[in-house]
Amino acid sequence: MSILLPYEGLEAPAARGGIAELSPAAPRPAFRTPHEAMRESARTATYRFSPRPRVLTVVSAVQLSASLRRVRFRADDDFADFPFISPDDHLKLIFDTDTAGEPVLPPFADGQCSPRGFVHRDFTVRWYDTTARTIDIDFVLGTHGVAAHWAADAAPGDRLGSLGPRGTYLVKDGVHDWYVLAADDSALPALARWAESLPEGTPATAFVEVQDAASHIDLPSRADLTVHWLHRGEAAPGTTTLLADAVMQHELPDRNGYVWAAGEALSVKSLRCHLQFRAGLPRDSWSVEGYWRRGRADYERPEPLPCSRCQAEAAR
Ligand SMILES: Cc1cc2nc3c(=O)[nH]c(=O)nc-3n(C[C@H](O)[C@H](O)[C@H](O)COP(=O)(O)OP(=O)(O)OC[C@H]3O[C@@H](n4cnc5c(N)ncnc54)[C@H](O)[C@@H]3O)c2cc1C
Repeated sequence: MSILLPYEGLEAPAARGGIAELSPAAPRPAFRTPHEAMRESARTATYRFSPRPRVLTVVSAVQLSASLRRVRFRADDDFADFPFISPDDHLKLIFDTDTAGEPVLPPFADGQCSPRGFVHRDFTVRWYDTTARTIDIDFVLGTHGVAAHWAADAAPGDRLGSLGPRGTYLVKDGVHDWYVLAADDSALPALARWAESLPEGTPATAFVEVQDAASHIDLPSRADLTVHWLHRGEAAPGTTTLLADAVMQHELPDRNGYVWAAGEALSVKSLRCHLQFRAGLPRDSWSVEGYWRRGRADYERPEPLPCSRCQAEAAR
């Protein structure tokens, strides 16, 4: 069964400040994913794919805001069969090169490919242009790691390895009466995808933690979306509780909605317990993801578990 994805009539993601050439020019037509869900319920669908190694070439790169840089890529295989399904769509970018500077990819055999032993980082697929066969990835800039450094200098013609997508998770339309979204800079590209895929007129609230107003971006949506920008100012990324506090203080109308939050792993951790045990949301009505962890390079997301204190509290 294919699922109708909610893109009809939606303006393509806006780019700010005179860089319109980076935005796809026309609204995206509705389309059905030809991919079969591995697991599906009335509310969600989980997809698994044989992860494909690819060499990407930079087509263009521009600054979206003070902290985000958008890089547009084409692929040597023209992104054959590339799935573009949900805000969870992401790739592993691979930073290994040979002595000539060409990307080195993990070996692919029998439909299997592992990035183990390679320098890789996860990134949201911000946009896939099915006509031009290009993808956009929005990178947080900074001096923190290999990916941030690569993105700061990315220029047309640069080449980079990628692997995936390995899978994605879709929260279906027409199931939830309201949405709450929360993200720091690293999850803002995924939040932007959430915003543009929400059903028309549905009440939605977004909390976004950034340094200051120079990091704001447009978040076009057909939903009735209210965006609250939370400024951490001079505090280092991942060191405040701004995001978690804002979500916890937000009054949820009832239990018929969906809460998605992603950002620095320790900063958002407390939300799992809050949503599950205090707000009492069903397990398939929220998702809290650590996208990176302060002080740790190459963070791999562990299976998120509620903390023992909250489990004990819930058991009382
Ligand atoms: C599913 C998924 C989707 C993601 N999508 C995006 C995306 O679209 N855009 C994006 O920019 N990131 C995204 N991330 C986060 C990104 O993978 C990490 O931030 C990654 O660590 C960056 O790699 P790096 O090589 O720059 O830093 P690393 O080498 O991994 O880390 C070096 C140091 O920098 C710190 N650090 C890592 N990330 C940040 C950050 N964002 N801000 C400040 N300090 C940091 C680490 O704590 C460490 O101390 C995503 C992560 C996941 C799991």
